This record gives sequence, structure tokens and C-alpha cells, in this order.
Amino acid sequence: MNHYILVIFDSCRYDTLMKANPKTIAKLGTIEQRWSYASWTSPSHYNLLTGLLPHTNPQNVFASEYYKNDFLKFSDRLGVEGIEFKSFIPKLYFPAFLKEKLGYQTHAMVSLPVLNPKTILNHGFDSYTLMDKHNDMRAIVRRMKFPGDRPSFHLLNVGESHYPYALPDEPAEEWPRISGVHGVFKHLDDQVVGGKLLKKASKFFDEKKLKMLRDRQVRAVKYLDSVVAELFDIVPKNTYITITADHGELFGEGGYFGHGPIFHKKVFEVPFVEGKLR
Ligand SMILES: [Zn+2]
Repeated sequence: MNHYILVIFDSCRYDTLMKANPKTIAKLGTIEQRWSYASWTSPSHYNLLTGLLPHTNPQNVFASEYYKNDFLKFSDRLGVEGIEFKSFIPKLYFPAFLKEKLGYQTHAMVSLPVLNPKTILNHGFDSYTLMDKHNDMRAIVRRMKFPGDRPSFHLLNVGESHYPYALPDEPAEEWPRISGVHGVFKHLDDQVVGGKLLKKASKFFDEKKLKMLRDRQVRAVKYLDSVVAELFDIVPKNTYITITADHGELFGEGGYFGHGPIFHKKVFEVPFVEGKLR
């Protein structure tokens, strides 16, 4: 059986990741444009933990047919033959399936407070940790363990790609602030980062700042690519890795910023790549 790692770059839009041109991440396979089932962190992570990863937006196909095929991919991911939708019944919850039916150790390390261990999402995990910093994937990688006797599943929620797209060594007082957005940035912990940009409050939202923010997300992904290299170095062979995002992010398109209470194509647009290194 394979170890399986599901890496979620929080808020990382597909085109952001492509612009960062991440050479290490690309070693896993072709980076696809996919679509998240939800526009913000909590429901999206719940959905991922049901086993449904971001979808391909297929046309002329019944949802049930798509789900059925999507679940078959877990045979590759886990190196276990015969996994199908029925295997997940009745809980429809991936960590519980791994733990109870396949004997996996299950671990989550999350960066965003909205996913903290008191939430329902901790269900089915042997360990579930909210990291001290919201933006330090390297600290996550350094804590990972792969015991030899049992396969393990790791859910990694990574926050460098989340607003304010700060690298771990960047002092908080240097993080960007933009005005004219509902004041949501004062409450990073609330995770409700998004909404219509208020033209009135800021005369007109500052396109230069939005571009700067978008560039910061690209920079964050470039940095994360180097941390992924460290992850690749420590994983045992027989490790299957999926890298994707929980939702996208808006940088002024349609008059929106961020994610959450937004209905826009870009808030669902996420990268998806997976494979086995060796
Ligand atoms: Zn998120």
C-alpha cells in the first residue's frame, strides 16, 4: 500500500500556480485546471475528505457516473485494488475509510484557524494539528513521520498561498493592507476573506495593489515549490502525492477580492496534479 499525501495550497488559483512555473511540483505529472466544489475553506475541505477531489467540469455525464470513475482513482493512489465508491459507504468519509478499513495512520496538519482541531473536520484522524503559524509549510514537512509498519495518510493545508500571501520570514507589519474592502482584512482569523470591492469607500479600488497582491500569490507558490522539493526528499518510495487547492481567489475580477461569499468562475478555478515520484 502507498503512503498518500494530499497537499492543499489554500486559495491558490490555477493560473497563479502556472505563472509561478513550479518545476518541482510539475515532476508529479501534468498540472490540470480543475474546479473546486466550494468557494471557501471549510466546505471545500469537508468535500475533499469525502474523497471527491476538485472536478474536471465534465459535460454530458451524470454526476453519479463521474463520482464512480473519480473514486476508482483511489486504487492507484493507495496501491490497493478494487477501491470504488461502494468502499466508502456508509460514512462517505475518506480518513475513516483509510483508518477503519485499510489500517492507515491518518494525520492532518492545517494552517488556517478555520480548520482548527475543535471543528468537525478532525474526525477520522489519529492526529490533527493546527500549526502555530498560518504560513509555514516547511514546519509541516519537518514534523512529518512515516512509520514503517503501517501506511499513512497526511492531509496538509498550506497557508502561504492564502491572503496576505506572506512567506514565513516576512514580518507581519510588512504585510499588505488594502482599503475599500469590507474591512475583512482586519480579521484574518475569521477567514472570511472576500467580497465586493466597495468603489465608494476607496473611490475606485486600486488596481495596482490588486496586481501586487496577485504577484505576491505567485511569489508564494514559487517559494512553496522549493518546500515541496524538501517534501519530495523525505517521503518514502511508494508515496503518492496530490497537490491541489481548496478554492481559487479573486484579484479584482468582476469587482471582487478574495474568496468566500463570491460567485465567480475564478473562485472555483484550482490547479490539480498528482502522481508517484518513484
Ligand atoms: Zn481556503
